[in-house]
This record gives sequence, structure tokens and C-alpha cells, in this order.
Amino acid sequence: MESDSVSSSRADELEWRSCRKCGRSLRKKESIERGIGPVCFRRVLEFNAALQAAAAPVPAPAPAA
Ligand SMILES: [Zn+2]
Repeated sequence: MESDSVSSSRADELEWRSCRKCGRSLRKKESIERGIGPVCFRRVLEFNAALQAAAAPVPAPAPAA
């Protein structure tokens, strides 16, 4: 019986070394912690913004700094 099935997949959750979107290798610690490269992360932000804009009846009065 195997009794050491503890932490074999946890490493993937703790640290992504490649972009989850496009699979590109990440170098910046910031990107690794995020799990998404800067380019894809920006797309995600724009995508979310588009979703919110589509869901909301009126656009946000002021962009968050
Ligand atoms: Zn990517």
C-alpha cells in the first residue's frame, strides 16, 4: 500500500513556473506568484473590465487608481 500520497501536487499550487494561459515560462516573481504572465494578466484585466462594463448598466464614474 502507498501511504505517502501527501504532497505531490501541492508544489504546482504553490508556485507556477509557466503561464496558465499560454504556458509561457515566467521569470518575474510577481508573475510566478500570480501564475499568469504580464501579457495574459493584462488581457484578463481587460476581459474582466469588459465583463463588468457589459454587466453594469452604467460605466464606472472614475477609474480606480
Ligand atoms: Zn501567458
